[in-house]
Amino acid sequence: MPDSPTHGLTITDVRSRDYRGRLTHPFVTARRSVEEVIGLLVEVELDDGTVGHGSAAETLAVTGESVESMRAVIHGPVAEALTAGPVACGLRGRTDAVAAACTGNTSAKAAVDVALHDAWARRLGVPLAEALGGDTSTLLRTDMTIGLAAPEAMARAAVSAFEDGFTVLKVKLGRDWRADLDRLRAVHDAVPDAEFRLDANQGWDPKSAVRIIRAIQDAHIPLQLVEQPVSKHDLRGLASVTAAVDVPIMADEAVNSPRDAFEIARSGAADVLNIKLAKCGGIGHAMAIADVAHAAGLPCMIGAMMEPRVSITAAAHVAAAHPAITLVDLDSAEWIDEPAPAGGYALRGDRLHLSHTPGLGFGPTATEGMER
Ligand SMILES: [Mg+2]
Repeated sequence: MPDSPTHGLTITDVRSRDYRGRLTHPFVTARRSVEEVIGLLVEVELDDGTVGHGSAAETLAVTGESVESMRAVIHGPVAEALTAGPVACGLRGRTDAVAAACTGNTSAKAAVDVALHDAWARRLGVPLAEALGGDTSTLLRTDMTIGLAAPEAMARAAVSAFEDGFTVLKVKLGRDWRADLDRLRAVHDAVPDAEFRLDANQGWDPKSAVRIIRAIQDAHIPLQLVEQPVSKHDLRGLASVTAAVDVPIMADEAVNSPRDAFEIARSGAADVLNIKLAKCGGIGHAMAIADVAHAAGLPCMIGAMMEPRVSITAAAHVAAAHPAITLVDLDSAEWIDEPAPAGGYALRGDRLHLSHTPGLGFGPTATEGMER
């Protein structure tokens, strides 16, 4: 063991364990329906025994990754890149090695990238948000998602979320633009004082998107923003919607990298960018997307997949560290009917309170049964 472990991050172990978490109710969007989160909990260990935590969920419909593919990538090229690299290497060198280990596989890479960041901040002895230049006391108010369903069921879910203290609701639409208007009307009638974000998950074509957004405005339902109304491949269509309506349009599936963010900003395709660690491969790329947005004067939202609490906590620390990230959509862990791994943050009403402990704030877990 070297005498000065603070000279770079020397990785001695990369391990993972299967994760399963039932949802309290199905999560339904225009693209998919999820009843259970399956994924991996990941740990990296440094030469001084410091352990960092990360996690990822299978999202075949979004990133194309399964538990099997994530396991293969983490214990194959990623572990090799981390343990075969130079002995002394800083965080940036390690996370660049993860990013370059193979193409794609952004959820698997994000899990390891987060674990590296957690270990790095733990070794520094500060919360991750602080290590990234932010502050754990930053106000982080999350919305609550209302899944796509029949209008009455969505209205009931909206009332329940509003009563739990969530005043900003993210309403999933995008299956049929005419029926979508009925869904939103029912939700608005049930909770007229809520603020609404809409997410069509690519479900509309550009002309339908403009039509429904105008119809919503005609119905005097105030909207904070509309997320990814059209196909992620149709940046021109996204730009046409953005130009045609007053409501801010947010890119989600269309922004997966700093380069995507630059292209969207350059072409004026959207007003807001939705950053997710699982889409861009980790914290470094997430901060770079936020930097591009900041330079272009675009605000960002930080979101997540339906994924374990470790991933959500990492996203919250990123939000607390970057001034361009002003919107928070981190409700996933509240859907999962499974307490472990506990820690990271406390949710009171709609506010996430980050724990002021080193790294992400998760305690040690039993390594028994972990795959290496
Ligand atoms: Mg979305």
